[in-house]
Amino acid sequence: MPSLTTLIPKKWITLFNNINNVLLPRVCFGCTTPLSRGEDVLCTVCRHEFPLTHYNFSEENAVDTIFYGRVPIQKAASFVFFTKRGIVQNLLHGLKYKNQEHIGSFFGAWCGAILENDIGLHTVEVVIPVPLHPKKEKKRGYNQSYHIALGIAEVMNVAVDKRSLRRVVYKGSQTQLSREKRWENVADNFKVKGASLTGKHVLLVDDVLTTGATIEACYNALKEVEGIRVSVATLARAQ
Ligand SMILES: [Zn+2]
Repeated sequence: MPSLTTLIPKKWITLFNNINNVLLPRVCFGCTTPLSRGEDVLCTVCRHEFPLTHYNFSEENAVDTIFYGRVPIQKAASFVFFTKRGIVQNLLHGLKYKNQEHIGSFFGAWCGAILENDIGLHTVEVVIPVPLHPKKEKKRGYNQSYHIALGIAEVMNVAVDKRSLRRVVYKGSQTQLSREKRWENVADNFKVKGASLTGKHVLLVDDVLTTGATIEACYNALKEVEGIRVSVATLARAQ
């Protein structure tokens, strides 16, 4: 039996889509002006004004130094500066709480285009999103860092592994906790399963880097894997 869409003339579908665009225009996450054809998530003006960090993996940057004396991360960098009540906050809010997971792949791809030019990352073989506890992922419906990882991995032409690193402890939100408490709260939350990461250079991906406690906890689980090297990319850097 032919599907419904083959029974409806294509011009009707186009007309319907156009009406839909008028009724529900896609708007820019930065300034809420309607997006033009060819624009996605951000309008061209907001894209140009986006607070990129311009950090790269080839030289020391302010994200690298967070981990000095803590864990031997190969290289680390963040893509944009996170500022409260700014455009990045709107985007992250949409990505985390409003079922806008496509924002993650959009920025992942943008981030990936920058990362793939970095010679220090040419040996990366797999991208690993910082996992949510399965209970939390079920509640949210998705892991936002997984969608960022997907965008990055597609551009870098490497695999995404969302099974080997697992979050095994479920805790509520920790945004109100102090730096010390946050560290205690995530310290033993992660475990590695299986041996597929043995000897690999992995790129660990998260949405926001604040104190570095989550990345440090992930590293402490990953270091049990023989011969592993870990680099880190986060979408935003909280200041
Ligand atoms: Zn805009």
